[in-house]
Amino acid sequence: MPATAPDLIRAVIGFRQWRLHGEELWSLHADDRWGRGLQTARCLGEDAHDGAAPQNGCTCGFYAWYSPTPRTASLGTSELVGGAVALWGQVELHAHGVRAQHAMIVALALPFSWGAKRRRLVRVANALEVPTVPARKLNAAALEHGDVIPRSMRPPDTTPNKRAAPGPPDPARLYAVADGLRRR
Ligand SMILES: [Zn+2]
Repeated sequence: MPATAPDLIRAVIGFRQWRLHGEELWSLHADDRWGRGLQTARCLGEDAHDGAAPQNGCTCGFYAWYSPTPRTASLGTSELVGGAVALWGQVELHAHGVRAQHAMIVALALPFSWGAKRRRLVRVANALEVPTVPARKLNAAALEHGDVIPRSMRPPDTTPNKRAAPGPPDPARLYAVADGLRRR
């Protein structure tokens, strides 16, 4: 980690989606079940390295976007749910989101519909001791637990094709260190 990494006093807020699997919450693209409280990232896979995750040049760490996913993104499936996380420790900054060392779910967004999915989500949230909020209140609920990364710290999106994988961000802005979750 470069010595110039900016030091953030509070946790960083990010937004993500999970997959409801039975009474459990799983990452969308990783074989990773989310539990109660603090989660610490590990590098997984065949070429997993020792030491903290995320590491530069690797894909490990907890992913989150800077902004909430569109409210409609979790509609129409019985599985997808959106929510907010507090992130801290080593945090790698990308154009649209971060990869972080430590994460904790701070709020889950309720689906619009009243039905099985909503009941299931509430049961999962209760088990994880995480509040559920209407999707329009997710941002406000998240901000009680930390700060969003200021735009000035985010590496610019230099990809002309937004759907392509992002290129390497400005190295000087690659890492930040967030000191942690404010005690409640
Ligand atoms: Zn890794």
